[in-house]
Amino acid sequence: MIVILKSGVSREQVSDFSDILRKKYGVDVHTSFGEQSTVLGLVGDTKAVDIDSVSAFPIVETVRRVQEPYKKVNRKFHPDDTVIDVAGHKIGNGELQIMAGPCSVESEEQIVGIAESVKKSGANFLRGGAFKPRTSPYAFQGLRADGLELLKHAKLKTGMPIVTEIMSADHLPLFEDVDVIQVGARNMQNFELLKELGKCNKPILLKRGLANTIEETLMSAEYIMSNGNENVILCERGIRTYETFTRNTLDVSAVPVFKKLSHLPVVVDPSHASGITWLVEPLSLAAVAAGADGLMIEVHNDPPHALSDGAQSVTPEQFQRLCDKLFAVTNAIHSITHN
Ligand code: PEP
Ligand code: MN
Repeated sequence: MIVILKSGVSREQVSDFSDILRKKYGVDVHTSFGEQSTVLGLVGDTKAVDIDSVSAFPIVETVRRVQEPYKKVNRKFHPDDTVIDVAGHKIGNGELQIMAGPCSVESEEQIVGIAESVKKSGANFLRGGAFKPRTSPYAFQGLRADGLELLKHAKLKTGMPIVTEIMSADHLPLFEDVDVIQVGARNMQNFELLKELGKCNKPILLKRGLANTIEETLMSAEYIMSNGNENVILCERGIRTYETFTRNTLDVSAVPVFKKLSHLPVVVDPSHASGITWLVEPLSLAAVAAGADGLMIEVHNDPPHALSDGAQSVTPEQFQRLCDKLFAVTNAIHSITHN
């Protein structure tokens, strides 16, 4: 249920009114002080909340029931875009954030070299997998804790914030210096993991599952937010369809749909979506044109010898050319929207 308050209501009035609602109905009240209006989102068992008596408070403009099962994620609860600030880089404020790096962290030389080159091309986050979810137990599983140390070292050398995947809540203590924790597609519905991530205050990049709907993705984000962590970034990374030419099918429409239904920033991963190097550029351009707040791109200095996902990795040179085109598209979009 949402309660839209009249304009000009003071913060004190909002706080007093929220306390009344909490006490009277036993609901959780989520407040969004927006540019246009203040919106209270009532979460919990709202069946007993009487719309007429809530509407009778003089500070109330309107009261509406929200049908969608996701509440905190819902744009109706929070009309303004959420902007997540990671070490000064703002995700969701209209600027394009580029997360780039290898699929897996392989060595100090590899991760530092790639970090330095992608930074020069315009990336502002370093990605790299330390704990790898591999289909085969015989495939490279990642350098694990040592990989996290190498990422931290690359962060120290370049100043780039790091994004890396967590596979188990037991590993959370190792992620203390990680800037953005990634939940991989395969773990999107690992609800116990999501609940634990809800109790930490780090930004979470939540990837859409291989076979999950938009609503299921939003419900997974709701798990994190309802446990207390509001810093969630959604990531469209392709879904499984009957098409076999590409590794997955990039659901470009998920970008505007996520942005319409929720207030969370949206990042697109064209690398896992396509599985093919030459498709990374056109899909990146499409994602930006569709309104993505960021991209996550796999870059490797020697793709044929990469320990994972070489076939979809771009080289630093290809990445440089891609960034030049991306910035041209971003500027073109800005000039249209600001005129
Ligand atoms: C990754 O980013 O390296 C990864 C494994 O991604 P996904 O979970 O989207 O497959
Ligand atoms: Mn990968």
